[in-house]
Amino acid sequence: MLQTVVILAIFAKFFTKKYKIDMNPLSARLQSLSPSETFAMAQKSNELKVLGIDVINMSVGEPDFATPKHIKEAAKKAINNNFSFYSPVPGFPELRKAVCAKLKNENNLDFEPAQIVISGGAKQSLCNVILSIVDKGEEVIIPAPYWVSYPEMVKIAEGKSIFVYAGIEQDYKITAKQLEEAITAKTRALILCSPSNPTGSVYSREELKSLADVLAKHPNIFVISDEIYEHINYVGKHESIAQFEKIRERVIVINGVSKGYAMTGWRIGWIAAPKWIASACGLLQGQYTSGASSISQKAAEAAYTGNQDCVEKMRVAFERRKNLITKLLKEIPGLKVNDPKGAFYIFVECSHYVGKQFEGKKIETATDLAMYLLEQGHVACVGGDAFGAPGHIRFSYATSDKNIEKAVARVKNTLAKLN
Ligand code: PMP
Ligand code: GLU
Repeated sequence: MLQTVVILAIFAKFFTKKYKIDMNPLSARLQSLSPSETFAMAQKSNELKVLGIDVINMSVGEPDFATPKHIKEAAKKAINNNFSFYSPVPGFPELRKAVCAKLKNENNLDFEPAQIVISGGAKQSLCNVILSIVDKGEEVIIPAPYWVSYPEMVKIAEGKSIFVYAGIEQDYKITAKQLEEAITAKTRALILCSPSNPTGSVYSREELKSLADVLAKHPNIFVISDEIYEHINYVGKHESIAQFEKIRERVIVINGVSKGYAMTGWRIGWIAAPKWIASACGLLQGQYTSGASSISQKAAEAAYTGNQDCVEKMRVAFERRKNLITKLLKEIPGLKVNDPKGAFYIFVECSHYVGKQFEGKKIETATDLAMYLLEQGHVACVGGDAFGAPGHIRFSYATSDKNIEKAVARVKNTLAKLN
């Protein structure tokens, strides 16, 4: 009997290999999907840490601060008050109202609760919107450098990403002319991220207006405006492209509590959108995840309705760190560094070092350079290739001043070893 089983198993293995039959084939959709490079580098950094290596992790972008106390207290209260049941699919009405009040007070934008959908993080909000409005073969314009997940989300929707590149010489921001040139009859949406991950660039009101003027001429195009870094802004007032009346009905604002309130693990994001898009996102979410965590929603409500001093305190710390890291990186020969205006990333042009060698091994790409810095310098950053910007590396400076100083010194010494 055992003999028969073994013979059959060997035969099955031979047969599937010979005829290339995959016993567990993934859908075509999944086969083309790339893993998130930001999380991948964070994982590699953690693997070295587990081995006892003192790695400074500047790869994944999340505030290093604890969630403010009054927000945590609201969550504890929600648990004690038995907020343990399914939440309404688009979110608790109180939170949706709080989001509307925030939009009015901080952004002077009028929305009603029916236009707000709360989700499990801004990532889900983005995916909901893309899946709701993009059909197979439709084009989505993505300014590059872009956040790693946008093109992957477009792939899930079977849409086509159209990249518009803006390098350091234009402060990583696309112009109205570039946008105009990228538009075709198939364009369905533009994904705009300001303040930007990965570059830290912030579009001014005038720059947004010039993009809005182009979009006004194309009434079929939607703007997915990712404003998750709104509160981490070094230019003063946050400007949203939703403020321009002529395109207002076609702008979907994406935001959430992850970054500004140091709540990445609570997983609350939201959209503010035309009602029909909000309803579509609710429909989609109702079938595959349901309402977001009830406890986290209560915490997010406290974040929006409570004292906002915590937000400013964290912003000031990020600004101080931004000034420090910018100054230190500018002292490293061969790197080109601009002045980020928001978020907690600095995107460095490092092509001078790509092509160099360490112990006979060539650094072929910026991702190789990031790996080299991790393995030899014990600093984790992310190669620009994943952000559509070869020849760059991204550092997240959401870490202490001491770590920033130590990390940049390590980067400087490690780069100096290349020849
Ligand atoms: N947009 C951008 C640009 C981001 O950097 C992130 C961070 N992951 C998100 C959206 C998603 O944020 P969340 O943690 O709320 O899913
Ligand atoms: N937004 C963060 C980053 O870019 C978190 C990681 C992610 O969501 O991919 O590092």
